[in-house]
Parts: sequence; structure tokens; C-alpha cells
Amino acid sequence: MNKPLILIVEDDPPIRNLISVALEAHDYRHISAANAGNAIMEATSHNPDIVLLDLGLPDLDGVKVIQKIRSWSNMPIIVISARSDDSDKIEALDAGADDYLTKPFSVDELLARLRVTIRRLNQSQMDNADQTVFVNGPLRIDYAAGCASLNGEELHLTPIEYRLLTLLARNCGKVLTHNYITQQVWGTSWENNVASLRVFMATLRKKLEPVPDSPAFLQTHVGIGYRMVRTDS
Ligand code: CA
Repeated sequence: MNKPLILIVEDDPPIRNLISVALEAHDYRHISAANAGNAIMEATSHNPDIVLLDLGLPDLDGVKVIQKIRSWSNMPIIVISARSDDSDKIEALDAGADDYLTKPFSVDELLARLRVTIRRLNQSQMDNADQTVFVNGPLRIDYAAGCASLNGEELHLTPIEYRLLTLLARNCGKVLTHNYITQQVWGTSWENNVASLRVFMATLRKKLEPVPDSPAFLQTHVGIGYRMVRTDS
């Protein structure tokens, strides 16, 4: 992908400017919008590669912008939230955002998130050509055969662990909320499912992670959910 196009949605001019300058310095193209109405218009007419979306917009909540974009596009959306409350991030992720940054954030952190997202975009184009096998460093999942291996050795997973692993792998790079995961794995999101999820994640990590206390594949987002990361990124 050459020179990805980033849509910056931010009503605060100094922050919008800070992001624009950082993107220009790192060879990204960008367009911007200062409110939700313009954001939806720019997203529709320019079809950007990634959207950086502030949640607190003057005309409409950022979550509504995510819902509108998701009605017609899977373009990656990284939410930028000034709110420290996890429930806002969870709401944005459940509406279809891919990742989040909390204000104040550093330019380095922002650039790192963009690189991860672009890698994921490139990877998903490659995965489309061969959807039956997923490879992430030493981890290999053969979806057609329904099995996974680590360093060539088959992992002995329970059905729930396997479903969890494949769900995270198919969304590699994306933060999945507890609610989303339990809906996908159990079909409900009762409180006790979230507790079960923690238990299954712990047993999955024991089998998957060389050092379960410092996981290489499965990140924990405390109070929010989990994400599988590329081990070589
Ligand atoms: Ca704002």
C-alpha cells in the first residue's frame, strides 16, 4: 500500500493540527473533519484507509459515526477518547471500532497504532487469498482441519479454547470486548460468561504462550477485552 490516506476526525484545532503534522512527517496522506456530519461525508466520498475518530464531537456522538460507517464499510477506525471511562471505549469497540487511544496520547503511540493497523490491512489482503490457514509466528491454525499447532507441535485445545483462539485469530490486531467474545463463543453475555471467559483465556494461554505471565500472542485490555497481536510486529 503506498501512502495510506487517513481521515482525522477531531473538533479541537490544536490536536487536529498536531496529528496532521505528525502524519505529514511520516508520509501519510490525510484529510480532516471537525464534526460528525463532515466525517461521514469525507468517509463516503474519499474512502480513506484508516479513520482516526475523536468520540466527543459537537454535533453527534462519535459512536454514531462508527455505526454509520459500519453500515457500508469495514475501514479501520481508531477511536481517540478523552474519556477515561472504559464503558465509552467498550461501546465504541462494540459498535465496530478496531482500536482506541486515550487522550493525552503521544505521537509515537499514534504512529505505532497506525503501523499495526496498516500491517493488518496488508495481512488481511493476503489472508483473503488463502483463508484456510492462519499463521502468526510459530502459531499455525488450520481452519479447514480444525486444529492448531505451535512450533509444529499440535496444541491440544478444548472446543471452547479452539473457538476462542480462532475468534481472536480471525480478528488479529483488533481489540475484542468481553461482551463481543462471549456473544460469539457462548451466544450470550451474562456476567458468569465473562468470568468463564477469564478462566478459558488463562487455560488457553498456558497452552499457547511460552511465558503465560508475559503473553506474546494474547493481550489483556483490563476492563475491556482481549486482542491477538502479530508476534513479529
Ligand atoms: Ca472533541
